[in-house]
Parts: sequence; C-alpha cells; structure tokens
Amino acid sequence: GSTVGILGGGQLGRMLALAAARLGMKVHVYEPAPEPPAGQVANKVTRAAWDDADALADFAAGVDVVTYEFENVDLAAIDVLAPLVPVRPGRRALEVAQDRIAEKDFLNAIGLATAPYAAIDGTDTLETALEAIGTPSILKTRRLGYDGKGQVRLDAGSSADAAWLSVGKAPSVLEGFVDFEREISVIAARGGDGSVAAFDPGENEHRDGILHKTTVPARVPAGRAQDAVLLAGKILTELDYVGVIGVELFVTRSGLVVNEIAPRVHNSGHWTEAACLIDQFEQHIRAICGWPLGDGARHSDAEMVNLLGSDAEAAPGLTGARVHLYGKAEARPGRKMGHVTRIRPRGAGG
Ligand code: ATP
Ligand code: MG
Ligand code: MG
Repeated sequence: GSTVGILGGGQLGRMLALAAARLGMKVHVYEPAPEPPAGQVANKVTRAAWDDADALADFAAGVDVVTYEFENVDLAAIDVLAPLVPVRPGRRALEVAQDRIAEKDFLNAIGLATAPYAAIDGTDTLETALEAIGTPSILKTRRLGYDGKGQVRLDAGSSADAAWLSVGKAPSVLEGFVDFEREISVIAARGGDGSVAAFDPGENEHRDGILHKTTVPARVPAGRAQDAVLLAGKILTELDYVGVIGVELFVTRSGLVVNEIAPRVHNSGHWTEAACLIDQFEQHIRAICGWPLGDGARHSDAEMVNLLGSDAEAAPGLTGARVHLYGKAEARPGRKMGHVTRIRPRGAGG
C-alpha cells in the first residue's frame, strides 16, 4: 500500500487522513504545531519547522506522494520536497492562491471575472486606488488572510490612513465591493490523467466573515450552475492541477465573479461526505494517488452547518444529522470545532 504525506495537521488534514485510511493507505503528517487534529488519526506525525530541510527530506523519503491541507505552505518547503517526491497539487497552485494579487491576475488572464482590484503598499496607493475603484470597497492583506481576518471595509468618507493601519500596513489589495445576489462555491477535482469532475455547486452563508452554512443545491438556474462548474474546470486545467480545489464565487446579475480559490479540500464541500457516494476527501486522495476519479454524484439535498466554539457542545444531541467533530481540545470562540450535515431526498424542497 502507499503512504500519503500531508503538509499541515488541521481538520482538513484530519479528514483527508480518514479518507486515506479507508482506502487502505498510511498517512504521515508534517506540522510544526503541537497536537494537531490530524495527528490523532495519522500513522505518524513529524513535528518540525517549515524551514527544517532535514526533516522535510526525511518526510519525503517515507511517503509516496505529498499533498497539503492549507494554502500557506512555505514555497521553500515545496522546493525541498518536489525533487524528492511528487507534490500534488503542484507549486503553481500555491503561488497563485497565496497572494490575492497573483490570484486575480491569473483569473483575469484566463478570462474569468473578479472584483476590480489594485495593489496597495501605502496610503498613497490606497488613495489613488480609492479614486479609481470607489466605495464601498474592501482592503485585504495580500497574504495569510482567512475567515475574513485582515480585511476592512471602506465606505464613502472612510479614512485611508485608518484602513492602512487596520491591515497592519501589510501589502494589500483594494477590491471593489461586489453587489452579489448570493455566494456559491464549486468543489472540483482533476485526476492525474487530466479528467475533471465537479460536485454540485453549494450556496454559502457567512457570519462575521466565517462560513456558517452551505446548502445544496444552490438556488441558481441550471445554466449558472453549469457555468460555475465549467469555470472551475478551466482553472484546474490552466493550473495543470491534480487534486481537489475550492472555487468561491459571487453570483451577480451580470454573471459569475470569482472571489478566491483554495488549492485544497474546502469547508464548503464538507456536505459531500453525507450527500455523495464519493466525498471531496476521498476524491482528493484518489486524484493525488493516481487513481481514477470517483463518482461524486449527489444522491441527496444537504445542509452543512459549522460548529464554532461552544456550538460543538450540542453535537451529541443532534441525532438526525451526520456529526463530524475535529477532536480539538480548546473550544475558543469562533474556532471551527466540527460541522453537522442534514440531508433529505433530492428535490424534496423545504
Ligand atoms: P476564507 O476563510 O474563505 O479563506 P478570507 O479571509 O479569504 O476567507 P474572503 O473570502 O476574501 O475572505 O472574504 C470573506 C467574505 O467577505 C466573502 O465570502 C464575502 O462574503 C465577503 N467579501 C469578500 N470580498 C468581497 C467583495 N469584493 N465584495 C463583496 N463581498 C466580499
Ligand atoms: Mg481565503
Ligand atoms: Mg473566502
């Protein structure tokens, strides 16, 4: 059997490890932080820094393929690993997804719409960009933001100085605010043979910048859902990608606008474990291990809700739903502790 190496030991790594185990594989996790959630279900954990070349080389020697569960993996670590072992998805996907400017440049270059945007490196560039893009708009750090962190909204009369301070004077992007009808995402996969498969688009509701709920099917016309799937396929092919990707989209009156891409399994795809024969985790493992992609057809309608902080205390009583907890000891407010998915027969409405 083969051994899968996972960079990062969070809940996504844990769910990938569970899927790999079910396919008879071994899992080796690389994570600098102590007691990672994925470590509880992995065969082996290496606790070492991202710049520890010896630890990375040892890790590479013990696995057949390397993947990652978060997009902020140090590219220097990838450069140590890639000559030693296949890394899937590859470096290019990380480069593009780590930097919001590189991401939008890439998306526009392949003909996909994004919010209007400008690179910001100080209050001067911010003031100039505000004149071009206008308000409302959002200033986001180029790198390392997640769950809406490192973002500030600008309205008419907002101070550029204050906004620049509130992103910590970090290199940023100013994005025009997209007047969307709803947010959807596509979880799609590309196999080693170049074949592409997508799960049905889900509709996402955020609270305080954090995903709260994903509902499938998304309330969009069939043509729009198909546009979303085709667009995800184009991204996968252009990146020569192998594995599962999450593509976050705004649905607007004039069409689909790409918010961002996540080069990994995605929180808005967790419903697939309850409503599809093959879920996003298994699909990712199949792809990176060179197996044919599985059948991700949806047999049920579904609603996935994240359990944040103390929400997870209610989990034992949720007897009519599929509960998934991540084994995290500390239930800090806003921390993703688990999720719960309810299904009903396809098309039953409600
Ligand atoms: P994630 O945890 O998904 O990686 P993130 O920190 O990268 O989140 P974004 O996805 O950029 O953040 O933004 C979070 C949410 O804020 C979006 O899902 C959307 O609801 C809103 N948002 C972000 N950018 C825009 C925009 N340009 N126009 C309108 N709404 C936006
Ligand atoms: Mg993001
Ligand atoms: Mg997002």
